[in-house]
Amino acid sequence: MRALRFDNRFVRELPGDPEAENHVRPVHGACYSRVQPTPVRSPTLLAWSREVAQILGLDEADVRSAEFARVFGGNALLPGMAPYAACYGGHQFGNWAGQLGDGRAITLGESINARGERWELQLKGAGPTPYSRHADGRAVLRSSLREFLCSEAMHHLGVPTTRALSLVATGEQVVRDMLYDGNPRPEPGAVVCRVAPSFIRFGNFEIFASRGEEALLERLIDFTIARDFPALAAEPAPAARRIRWFEEVCRRTAVLVAHWMRVGFVHGVMNTDNMSILGLTIDYGPYGWVDDFDPDWTPNTTDAGGRRYRFGNQPYIAHWNLWQLANAIHPVVREEAPLERALAAYADIHDAEYRRMMQAKLGLAQWRTGEGDDDGALARLHKLLAAGEVDMTIFFRRLADVDPAVPSLLPFDEAFYDPARRAAVETELLGWLRDHGARVLADGLPAAERRAVMLGANPLYVPRNYLAQQAIDAAENGDSSELETLLEVLRRPYDEQPGRERFAARRPDWARNRPGCSMLSCSS
Ligand code: AMP
Ligand code: MG
Repeated sequence: MRALRFDNRFVRELPGDPEAENHVRPVHGACYSRVQPTPVRSPTLLAWSREVAQILGLDEADVRSAEFARVFGGNALLPGMAPYAACYGGHQFGNWAGQLGDGRAITLGESINARGERWELQLKGAGPTPYSRHADGRAVLRSSLREFLCSEAMHHLGVPTTRALSLVATGEQVVRDMLYDGNPRPEPGAVVCRVAPSFIRFGNFEIFASRGEEALLERLIDFTIARDFPALAAEPAPAARRIRWFEEVCRRTAVLVAHWMRVGFVHGVMNTDNMSILGLTIDYGPYGWVDDFDPDWTPNTTDAGGRRYRFGNQPYIAHWNLWQLANAIHPVVREEAPLERALAAYADIHDAEYRRMMQAKLGLAQWRTGEGDDDGALARLHKLLAAGEVDMTIFFRRLADVDPAVPSLLPFDEAFYDPARRAAVETELLGWLRDHGARVLADGLPAAERRAVMLGANPLYVPRNYLAQQAIDAAENGDSSELETLLEVLRRPYDEQPGRERFAARRPDWARNRPGCSMLSCSS
């Protein structure tokens, strides 16, 4: 395999845990612990992303080499790698949970590509670390495949995300109780290599604030700005620099969540340890894709009671999480007002971004507020989509096929799940389409341009839960071709792909209540 070049600033510039032994413990006064991946029985490459390989400067021969599977399965290191697990804490389901940390993620190193970009390579499922608490540090194929597939799909959808280089089967079994119902069973294990400029989370800062380790908190903030936000590093005054940085984190998070709402993605576990400081989608677990439009839907069975992380709540939870980050960094910023202003700006930025995206989804030249406003029309549409159990992706995609002069429900035949629910909203929905048609005609975007804008904002293909589950079922039986095809389709989510219509189909009936398709758990 071709040589990768590493420059491991995180471990070079930040203090590490002096203890070298790999056992579970609280780690104080350190940003990370050095730890080696635990080798697996027979690492075998199941899937890889050619785009990510290319970013890193690897070609197909590199990826298909025996060494690649060994390295990205956790059995070997390349020269220059300096593996570690990061220390972080977090608020889980609204409560401070103390030290969490990379319990099954191990960063191998920061790779510098030919363009000079820094890409951190991180294995997920590579064995225990000092942060593994009561768990084994491993991951099952089911969840690893879901992370691999969805992170690449999100990228192609235009949603900020961590990436995935590879999915490697371990040849070992991992025991999991998938639905936490007392039925543990062995499942095939796998390791994903995920890739991002940085895997730092809100929780990396919160842990030091919670312990009163202010010097370390300050170091980590300044490191993060210098390495990951170079455009802000020029500001010489530390307090002003840190405030600018927090504003930027708020801005990126606002944009991120607006995208999730645009494409129908529900993260499922928006704990502060799962919030990327770069505003990337991170830690794909019991996430889900909205099939029938339902703002109250949560894919995560652990969240079924409170529905904290339901689809429609995500913008508020992101704000709550930023609030926790503001509390954490306050001791080194020492001023409340600018942090509060940034938090208030989050809501404005999110709303503006969301409206910009909805404007494109609806094919409008501008968003009208005030008289006859588009917010009201959108709220009305959302109510109808929920009441009528209408598929979100299909509805918005087919909206481009409606003739604004003669609106009809015909383009939406495939979007309904239940004839009775359809019948209940048909008249009102047609009324909405007529109003929208009139609005569009008055709005004045030329038809071809409008269509192009809409098709560019409304994906045809998304990694629906049942599609991922079918790829998992096949892969567990030794067939990764379904995953390969799905990945291929999801590389061009906005393009019609003749012969691949089945990947754009609404959720079939068998998947309505099947675990993995509608119900997911953190057990992975
Ligand atoms: P998550 O809900 O996946 O974000 O995980 C929350 C915390 O639990 C993080 O600190 C993870 O590293 C840790 N964790 C989750 N699964 C495992 C596992 N199988 N082994 C060790 N730690 C884990
Ligand atoms: Mg996590």
